[in-house]
Amino acid sequence: MIRKIITKDIPGIREKSKELPKEFLSTTAFQRLLVDMEETMYATDGVGIAASQIGENIRVALVTDERKKLFLINPKIIWSSWRKVWGEEGCLSVPGLFGMVRRASSIRVTALNTEGADHTFDAKGFFARVIQHELDHLDGILFIDRAKDLHEVKESHDHAL
Ligand SMILES: [Zn+2]
Repeated sequence: MIRKIITKDIPGIREKSKELPKEFLSTTAFQRLLVDMEETMYATDGVGIAASQIGENIRVALVTDERKKLFLINPKIIWSSWRKVWGEEGCLSVPGLFGMVRRASSIRVTALNTEGADHTFDAKGFFARVIQHELDHLDGILFIDRAKDLHEVKESHDHAL
């Protein structure tokens, strides 16, 4: 089901999300949440989405690049490169605004997958950016808190996260 996106003026988006208890993974409610996150992300042309953006303050994010799609449950960044890079970001929760954000160019992430198994992997480039943006959401942080050169873009939500 496509859910309503929680935008920056709704207080819940600023809440720190809670860890998901592992036993919750096998519930129908959780499986439905994953489907809703995916449907909502694709319906809004996003490339990533956090559960808090559809009103569920739990530590679950969906991230994509051209080839893959990953659900991250209780994710943590366990290593970040010294090298930081500026790149443009937008956000489904901040419609119409884009800005430049400085992020680590490479990261190592550990998370549970949807089966509850530990998964550790490296990400770089735009995919690393998407992950850092979504993990910020889990702590109630929006890209506009970190961005410079914020500017309005009217027509498109391309690459909103
Ligand atoms: Zn976002």
